[in-house]
Amino acid sequence: MKQRVFSGARPTGRQHIGNYLGAIQNYVNLQEEYDCIYCIVDVHALTSLEETDRLQENIHEMMLDWLAAGLDPQKSILFVQSHVPEVMELHTLLSMVTPLGWLLRVPTFKEKARMQPQNVNYGLVGYPVLMTADIVLYKGEIVPVGEDQLPHLELAREIARRFNSIFGPTFPEPQSKLTSFPLVVGLNGTQKMGKTYDNYIELAATPEETLKLVMTAVTDPARRYRSDPGHPEVCNVFSLHHFFNPDRVDGIADECRSAGIGCVDCKQLLAQGINSELAALRERRAALAARPQYVTEVLSDGACRAQAIARDTLAEVKEKMGLVRRSV
Ligand code: SF4
Repeated sequence: MKQRVFSGARPTGRQHIGNYLGAIQNYVNLQEEYDCIYCIVDVHALTSLEETDRLQENIHEMMLDWLAAGLDPQKSILFVQSHVPEVMELHTLLSMVTPLGWLLRVPTFKEKARMQPQNVNYGLVGYPVLMTADIVLYKGEIVPVGEDQLPHLELAREIARRFNSIFGPTFPEPQSKLTSFPLVVGLNGTQKMGKTYDNYIELAATPEETLKLVMTAVTDPARRYRSDPGHPEVCNVFSLHHFFNPDRVDGIADECRSAGIGCVDCKQLLAQGINSELAALRERRAALAARPQYVTEVLSDGACRAQAIARDTLAEVKEKMGLVRRSV
């Protein structure tokens, strides 16, 4: 029997090439080897109460990108967190075995509290408990994570372990599957590509939009004139060539260093590489978008399949916690 992978992602709307290279491609590959459950965690998004009016649109657009990139509802369960409300019940039950001190020590809680001092809500503190509920409700065994997420997963393991030690073996302790996500730097050349910094290229951008955005990318700051030799190792356009023109990077590096190629031509090459890599994905996306009910159907089917697992787990948990009579 295949091991079960669980992963959740916030509904951030249309995905960008940083999401694609960093997470989505990994999700697609894992489908071949594991029993995968991928969830859009809409309840987690409520901790900041931003863009709630766009939540449904963000879910729809994000799922279109996931499907177009190759996530296959025949192979994986794809659903929205709140469509399986059992997760909220398990969150409450797990909160009874989670010492408050564990939660208050979580660095991301302190960081979030600093970022939104006007809204330091309980959801921010309880976030790791809800995340644990997300995973263990489906008896997730493996969670693909980047190194920065390891402390969260360790806390999920501790909560599962504590529950098991009090009430008997119930949950597998989820193991991390460390993935060396490439750091995709945004077009401004400083921060990680992301919506926060408005430095991204959407997967669904048209070829013209892609070219226009690539042309704004910051390059080697020391290369002020076309005749200046460049330093590809400090240029983000060059780092993106590794993903989109892997066969040409050596040549581009030589030409940059000898001023044989200018930044405008180099960016045009990059835009061509991105557009050619994403052409099939964009075509699939357009075809899926033309079927307005398709995403709804996928998510509804995914929620049904996820809920069947969730109900069994929750029944087991309630029985072990004494909330219902033990079956004989
Ligand atoms: Fe960067 Fe290319 Fe310009 Fe060199 S030629 S600095 S790699 S954009």
